[in-house]
Amino acid sequence: MTEQQRVHPVSEAFAANAWADKEKYLSMYQQSVDDPEGFWAEQAKRLDWITAPTKIKHTVFDTHSVDIRWFEDGELNVSANCLDRHLASRGDQPAIIWEGDDPGESKTYTYRELHARTCQLANAFKELGVKKGDTVTLYMPMIPEAAMAMLACARIGAIHSVVFGGFSPDALAQRVIDAQSRLVITADESVRGGKRVPLKDNVDAALTRDGTDVVDNVLVVKRTGGDIDWHDGRDVWYHETVDGQAETCPAETMNAEDPLFILYTSGSTGTPKGLKHTSGGYLLHAAMTHQYVFDYKDGEVYWCSADVGWVTGHSYIVYGPLANGATTLMFEGVPSYPSHGRLGEVIDKHNVAILYTSPTAIRALMAHGDDVMDSSKRDSLRVLGSVGEPINPEAWEWFYRVIGNSKCPIVDTWWQTETGGIMIAPLPGAIDLKPGSATRPFFGVLPALVDSEGNILEGATEGNLVILDSWPGQARSIWKNHDRFIQTYFSTYKGMYFTGDGCRRDEDGYYWITGRVDDVINVSGHRMGTAEIESSLVAHEAVAEAAVVGYPHDIKGQGIYIYVTLGDEYEPSDALKKELTQWVRKDIGPIASPDVIQWAPSLPKTRSGKIMRRILRKIAANETEGLGDTSTLADPSVVEDLIDNRVNRG
Ligand code: ATP
Ligand code: MG
Repeated sequence: MTEQQRVHPVSEAFAANAWADKEKYLSMYQQSVDDPEGFWAEQAKRLDWITAPTKIKHTVFDTHSVDIRWFEDGELNVSANCLDRHLASRGDQPAIIWEGDDPGESKTYTYRELHARTCQLANAFKELGVKKGDTVTLYMPMIPEAAMAMLACARIGAIHSVVFGGFSPDALAQRVIDAQSRLVITADESVRGGKRVPLKDNVDAALTRDGTDVVDNVLVVKRTGGDIDWHDGRDVWYHETVDGQAETCPAETMNAEDPLFILYTSGSTGTPKGLKHTSGGYLLHAAMTHQYVFDYKDGEVYWCSADVGWVTGHSYIVYGPLANGATTLMFEGVPSYPSHGRLGEVIDKHNVAILYTSPTAIRALMAHGDDVMDSSKRDSLRVLGSVGEPINPEAWEWFYRVIGNSKCPIVDTWWQTETGGIMIAPLPGAIDLKPGSATRPFFGVLPALVDSEGNILEGATEGNLVILDSWPGQARSIWKNHDRFIQTYFSTYKGMYFTGDGCRRDEDGYYWITGRVDDVINVSGHRMGTAEIESSLVAHEAVAEAAVVGYPHDIKGQGIYIYVTLGDEYEPSDALKKELTQWVRKDIGPIASPDVIQWAPSLPKTRSGKIMRRILRKIAANETEGLGDTSTLADPSVVEDLIDNRVNRG
């Protein structure tokens, strides 16, 4: 627990130049919850409206009828907000800096160029028969065309559904069918870490599945020139269709509540949900959080290392930064290729001021020791960010010290596909940091902790994290399944949005996400979040990564089963098992004492890099027959290895 008491105070110099210092954060936050209508009416002016909204908020969190509308009589176009309105003031400023998988390859698009390319693509869409309200599936590499395709959809009022380019044909087919997409955009192949992924082959395979005949066309970007099959009449080359189009295309007038995109969750807990996000509120939330949480300043290069296939890529590679006229870096590769120094080298090469990445990426680098950063200086960095999972305090400190040279605040941002944008995070000029805590809510966000009956708990306590009122970026529904939306998020606790996450609030009102509620372990009547035990283990020098789950235990109800991945220089041994057991007992208490430790060369993760504890739970319980939906698993062979080497608990 000692780690958790560490505080990194806001530096005065940082606060003096920040968008919000402590006083400003507190007063804006207060106003946002006292008078949401007034607050958001004012904030909405940061967008370029065709018709300014007069109706600000209409939101009902009732168990029977959930109805969420923001700015419902406003009209705007999201792509015009991200492109056209910047042309006069910053047409020649870089909008997207693209860094290829190969360190020798990079390319910059100014706002003027991005606007022209997007318009051409939008015109091509129209030629292919795509109309307002149609859905388009993107299954693409991390190349600028992915951002152009999102913006081109937004321009003509089509709804995009981005499917991560690492998914299997079946996972892709499932999402194409659910979204009923007429058009799929892909590339011949993608390149990641020096390896080619056959995207077009995967699309071909997906489109042999029943129910996919809704797809009329597949638009193919030539990325590598690799061999692919061609289906005449269906397949069209991007360069042949797009390059000759006019470089202007009128932006469709859209209602604030018209859908902008569908996006499926990562599938950590089960079958992915296709969340529906709309236009006005979403863009406002993405833009505002991008400015305040990262303290983004004009002219800075900002890098979010997520994939556009995840909500983080939507809100913080594309929409938030571009709405703010920022320069956003898009990276095709992986931080470990061609060497573990790549992340730092990209930062130096492009003068990155803000880096937003994930705990899983940080832990992976950390496992190789401090010298992985020796090939770079990273002097340009000013702010660091983390998202996706709880960040273990040990990983936080390493991120701070080694990547950030002990001078950049870290914003640990808690949010979800469902929330559209950041919900709980420190504004770096306003909030003193505590490693492992996402700290305080963003403007307009009303978090609360409830017990299992839904009673609101006050003060320093632990419970289920709910949000009491709507915020502009909130998902409006699950695509064509509003009942599932209500059932999943609004039926557990009356009148509240349930996040599915467990959380602790300390005496300073800081929020600490303890993991998913499904993952909470109950040992002899003591409830424990997985995050705390995992963080304790990661703090041990030998441990690169750890995952903790409960399994049925005759006496204690649940026992603690731990999967441990060791750092590069450590070997498994019984002595080390004993040492780790002692370590956790001493750090957290005898109640957290591990019952079983299994050495895991790697852990099962979603394609977005999150540990899938529900699968580890099944393995620990020896229920390896029905592992549930594994389609979002990054590497299925990891699971087989863990099953083969399961520790028999007798
Ligand atoms: P599914 O809902 O399909 O199981 P998922 O929840 O992994 O998938 P996302 O919406 O991508 O899909 O992830 C949101 C979840 O990620 C949060 O509910 C939380 O559990 C976790 N998370 C995200 N950011 C943080 C953070 N900063 N600290 C702790 N947990 C986080
Ligand atoms: Mg989720």
